[in-house]
Amino acid sequence: MTSSQYSLEDSPESIKLNKAWGHVVEQLSTVIKAAWFARFIKPLKPVTIAENGKVVIQGPGKFCTDWVENFYGKRIEVMLGDELGQEVTVEFAAEPNEKKPANKAIVTVAAPESVPAAKASPTVTVVNEPKERFKPDPEYRFENFVVGQSNRLAHAGATAVASQLGVKYNPLFIYSQPGLGKTHLLHAIANEILRRNPEFPLVYTSAQEFAEEYIAALQTQRIDYFRKQQKATGLWLIDDIQFIAGKDKTQEEIFYSFNHLYSLGKQIVICSDRPPKDLYLMEERLRSRFEAGLVADIQLPDTETRSAIILKKAATMGMHLSPLQAMHLSERINGDVRVLKGMLAKLEVTASLDGRTIDDDMISDFAKEHLHENLEKVSLEQIVQIVGRHYKIPVDEILGTSRKAPIVTARHVSIYLLRELTGDSWKHIGAQFGDRDHTSMMHGYQKIAEQMQKEKDLRNAVQGLKDAVRPAKP
Ligand code: ADP
Ligand code: MG
Repeated sequence: MTSSQYSLEDSPESIKLNKAWGHVVEQLSTVIKAAWFARFIKPLKPVTIAENGKVVIQGPGKFCTDWVENFYGKRIEVMLGDELGQEVTVEFAAEPNEKKPANKAIVTVAAPESVPAAKASPTVTVVNEPKERFKPDPEYRFENFVVGQSNRLAHAGATAVASQLGVKYNPLFIYSQPGLGKTHLLHAIANEILRRNPEFPLVYTSAQEFAEEYIAALQTQRIDYFRKQQKATGLWLIDDIQFIAGKDKTQEEIFYSFNHLYSLGKQIVICSDRPPKDLYLMEERLRSRFEAGLVADIQLPDTETRSAIILKKAATMGMHLSPLQAMHLSERINGDVRVLKGMLAKLEVTASLDGRTIDDDMISDFAKEHLHENLEKVSLEQIVQIVGRHYKIPVDEILGTSRKAPIVTARHVSIYLLRELTGDSWKHIGAQFGDRDHTSMMHGYQKIAEQMQKEKDLRNAVQGLKDAVRPAKP
């Protein structure tokens, strides 16, 4: 161990690191399936933290650490950084005294004392565990789903599927940006089917979970068992399919399961953050399978739909809002439905902290304090002017067709802002950009959204531009 590292036993750093790690593990326990959590996350322990923020985390074997790094590495880095209040890089390392053959090492490995003995015993127990029955979120029912212009088709597809499996639209493929109700619809289908038959063999998997299970099955040579489970499915709900981008093996396996179930007339429903043609798929065949049934997108809801959603959510939260109050809020809150929900929660907390009842005054104060959006619609001209000034690029070049990298970036940022600040349809945005195809608008938006997740500078720049276009109200 070099002198720039702290050993875990003796420094205050180690106590801090252990505590932070404890929090990270706690958070992970809520997002990772129990069996995987016990197998892969629980045995991990932080070993060192260096002055430059490099943290070494040790796991019982290379398979374990590779798995964690592959699926949760980045997330862990971010979470641990948040907990420690500093940027960290995480390195995963297998315990040095590990016994080799990786296949066996997975579960039999020396798990720390904190893992109950039952969990630490032979591989077979874990792998042979029957799949936990999926319990859909009881709130995510069709009755709680507000239908508007923006989601009509997706909703119609989902209800048709739920009323008669495998008959009308197979597969049903729903796509939208996040927060617009895809997962809600998947659960609503499941709720409906299970209400009629609690024993119905339906499977709900996120594509990420599918990949995790598949790879673990490969590793433990239980692939036949995995496939058998897959084959017994009567309805397959796949969430966030975009995750399989670039994962060729997983795609092959999905293709395999898909074909099998499809040929038996079993219903398949797929959700995605982009249309089939924008998924990075290895095989054209898989894409054409996805497009073979109904492909439905969900757009940002308009003001009326938003206020209906606010009313419905408020009611489920036990809050009493008048339609007028809901309208008042929906006019001021931009963004997806998740944002609306967040705002309601905030409103409720503010009310209880201040000991106020939620009335017109309270809502108007709340709006002033928290909701910075102006009422009047932002125009494309305003946006490109400000973006152009920031990137030092003339407005007509942003609106032109040049493919030079800095110009393309400025164009994409403008598209991003226009969409975020106005919620306009892709078609309308394309029209404003010189009658361009709406898919190229979506592509530009997506590019910026993805890049923002990775690059802090861009995130700050876009936030700054957003504020500049639509200044916070005093
Ligand atoms: P996605 O899967 O598209 O990211 P979710 O299904 O997780 O979105 O939806 C985010 C939140 O918004 C959930 O709480 C969901 O219930 C709610 N929501 C989205 N659309 C609607 C709608 N049309 N009516 C009622 N609630 C909605
Ligand atoms: Mg979702």
